[in-house]
Amino acid sequence: MVQTSTDLWLLPEDEVLLGQHITAAFPDAAWRCSQPGPRSLHQLHLHPTIETALTCGGVQAFLSLPIGASLPADVEPVDGVRPPTGPPTRAIVQLLRSQIVSFSDEHFRSGRLAVRWFESDVDPDTHRLLPSQTRAIWTALKAATRVAHIERPNGSRLTGTRIGPAAHDKVLRDSIALGRPGAERFQLIKPARA
Ligand SMILES: [Zn+2]
Repeated sequence: MVQTSTDLWLLPEDEVLLGQHITAAFPDAAWRCSQPGPRSLHQLHLHPTIETALTCGGVQAFLSLPIGASLPADVEPVDGVRPPTGPPTRAIVQLLRSQIVSFSDEHFRSGRLAVRWFESDVDPDTHRLLPSQTRAIWTALKAATRVAHIERPNGSRLTGTRIGPAAHDKVLRDSIALGRPGAERFQLIKPARA
C-alpha cells in the first residue's frame, strides 16, 4: 500500500487557500462532499471547490485520483462541475478538517491531508500518474501552509506537520494548545526564522 498523510491545522480561509493552490495545479480538481450516516441516506455531490464541499458535509472532503477520474453513479455534480469522464477512481485524497474543540480542555485538533492506494489495484499508466499527482498536491500543500514548529510540554519537538497562515496567527494570538488524535497537547512556537 502506498500512503501519504500530513497532520495539519487550517482555518476556513486556509482551506480556501489550499484549494486554490490545488486548482492551480489541476484546474479540473473537484471535491466530493461527505455526509453523516449511511451512504444511501444523503445525496453526495461533486463540488467545484474544497470550501463548498466542506460547507455541504462539514467534516471532510475527497478528491479522486487520477484527477478527472470517473465517480460512482450516486455522486451528483453540482454548481457547474462537469461530470468527470476519466478512468475509474484509483485513489482518494482526504482533507479532514481541523477543529477548535472548546469543551473541557480547549485545543485546536489537527486535521489531515491523506492519500493511499493499493498498487495491486492500479495499471502501469495509473501507477506512474498517482505518485506524480500526489507530489503536485503536496507541493500545493507546502505552498499554502508553513511548517508547524510545535513542541511538547517537555520541550521536545514534533516534526512533519503543517499549519495555515491564518491558523498560525490565531494560535499564537490566542495561545491555543494544539492537539492531534490522542491526549497529547502541543505548543506552537515562533521559529527564529520562518
Ligand atoms: Zn455536497
